[in-house]
Amino acid sequence: MSRRKQVYEGKAKILFEGPEPGTLVQYFKDDASAFNNSKKGTITGKGVLNNRISEYLMTKLGEIGVPTHFVRRLNMREQLIREVEIVPVEVIVRNVAAGSFSKRLGIPEGTPLPRSIVEFCYKADELGDPFVSEEHITAFGWATAQEMDEIMSLSLRINDFLLGLFLGVGIKLVDFKAEFGRFYNSQTDDVSIILADEISPDSCRLWDVKTSEKMDKDRFRRDLGGVAEAYQEVAQRLGILPESGPRDIQGPKVMQ
Ligand code: UDP
Repeated sequence: MSRRKQVYEGKAKILFEGPEPGTLVQYFKDDASAFNNSKKGTITGKGVLNNRISEYLMTKLGEIGVPTHFVRRLNMREQLIREVEIVPVEVIVRNVAAGSFSKRLGIPEGTPLPRSIVEFCYKADELGDPFVSEEHITAFGWATAQEMDEIMSLSLRINDFLLGLFLGVGIKLVDFKAEFGRFYNSQTDDVSIILADEISPDSCRLWDVKTSEKMDKDRFRRDLGGVAEAYQEVAQRLGILPESGPRDIQGPKVMQ
């Protein structure tokens, strides 16, 4: 692990000071948590895979003009990112009913939605990340109306692009969660909204197109087993695997 100064530790990642001002190092742990931290475990190799998958997806998004915090991958578990001020809102984009959406609205899992639906949760662990509307977000100043317009339009572009990208490798993007941040560009002296955090099987629901088999964190949430194998399958289908091959991923091992 890095000897740099730690600035933040979350459930699945640690942020360290970066080599230059305005940068951070994002370290991907093997730790997993669900249901507002009430279920915890370790999935050996998960961090390595998520580092690669998030690198790949953020790079591809960057290529179509979506601004992201990703700069470059540093090693198996770390990537260099731009420092941002995180907007305390989780943006969830859904294409197919699943999870809390199915429970809340009584729509069976797997029901295709008439169109993509964007939802917001306030990032507050102590409250269990409550569902909020744009009204709450702008009234409490978590983001401005202008920032929310940008976040909405970026989220829909990200969804359109990822839907196609995953479909191309036989995976249905059921839903995903994205986080955005305010990036201060010292050269232009302006602040813009960019995609932050990670995009990985920890933050997406990914189902095999043919079998509907789950290839994401629901395997951990629902004790389905084969979590690391599923993440590895996602990486394999995307054509990315850790440099030194399977020896860095010591097989699936879920401990609770
Ligand atoms: N999600 C996430 N972090 C959260 C909550 C949700 O990454 O704190 C992702 C989750 O993996 C899924 C999507 O957001 O891909 C929608 O999750 P949902 O609201 O259905 O909540 P869940 O059923 O996972 O509790």
